[in-house]
Amino acid sequence: MSYTTAILLRRTDFGDNDLILTLLTKDWGKTSVIAKSAKKSRKRFAGTLDLFTVSQVLYKKGHGRLPLLQEAVLKHVFLSFRYDICKTAYASYWAELIFLWIEEYENQSDLYELFLYSLDTLDKGCIKDIELNILFQIKFLKLSGLSPVLEHCVKCRLPVDSISEHQIFFDLSRGGIVCKKCRTSDSGLFISKEAVKQLTYIDKNGFSGSGIFEFSQQSLYENQSFLETFIPYHLEKNPRSLKFLQQIRDNIDKKEVLKCLKN
Ligand SMILES: [Zn+2]
Repeated sequence: MSYTTAILLRRTDFGDNDLILTLLTKDWGKTSVIAKSAKKSRKRFAGTLDLFTVSQVLYKKGHGRLPLLQEAVLKHVFLSFRYDICKTAYASYWAELIFLWIEEYENQSDLYELFLYSLDTLDKGCIKDIELNILFQIKFLKLSGLSPVLEHCVKCRLPVDSISEHQIFFDLSRGGIVCKKCRTSDSGLFISKEAVKQLTYIDKNGFSGSGIFEFSQQSLYENQSFLETFIPYHLEKNPRSLKFLQQIRDNIDKKEVLKCLKN
C-alpha cells in the first residue's frame, strides 16, 4: 500500500469502465495506476479525475501490471484552468514534459515541488505566464541534469563576457554556447548575449529580484523560443501540447494586434 499526495498528469481510457491515471506523486515519482470503475461511477473518485488536481491517494499493487487506486481525496483544484485555455495549455506542456521524460517510480520530490509551485503560480497569475514558462523549463532541465551551458564557451571555456559577438551561437548537440573560433556545426541557433545573461540570472535566482529588476521583453521571447527548441531536441520528440500552446499564443498575439489596429 502506498499513501501519498499526487498531481494528475494524464488520464487514459482503459476498457469500458476503467481509467489509467498517470500521477506525479510527492514520494514515489511518476506512477501510473488503474482507477477501477472510474468511468461508471464518478462518485467513487469525486473531483479527483480532472487534470492537474492535487489529491491524497492510496494505491496498492494488484495482480495485474499496474497498481490499483484505492482512494483519492481531493486536496486542491486550480480553478482558473477551467476557463483560461492559455493557462491550461502551459500546464499541459509541462505535464507532457514530465510524462515523456521521467522514469516511473523514481523519487522526484524536487520535480513535484517545482510542478506544484508552477501550477499554483500560473493559477494565481503572480508572475507573467512567459516568465513562469521559462522558469519551469530551465529548472526542469537542471533537475534532469541537462542544463544548457551558458556561462562560457562549451569547448574552450571562454567566459560569455569575453565573447565579442552580440549574437552568440548555441550548439544544440553540444548543449552550450560556442565562441566564433570553436564553432564547427550548423545545428544550432543564435541567441543574443543579453538573453543568455537573462537566462543565467533566472536559472540562479528565479524571479526573486524581478520587482526591482525589469526583464527585457525581447529577451524573454528569445529565451522562451530557445527553450522550446532545446528541450524537444534533447527529448527527440515534439510534444503535441507544445504545438497546441504555440498555436494558442499566436492566436492571442494576432487578436492583440487587431485590437491595436482598431484603436
Ligand atoms: Zn570557444
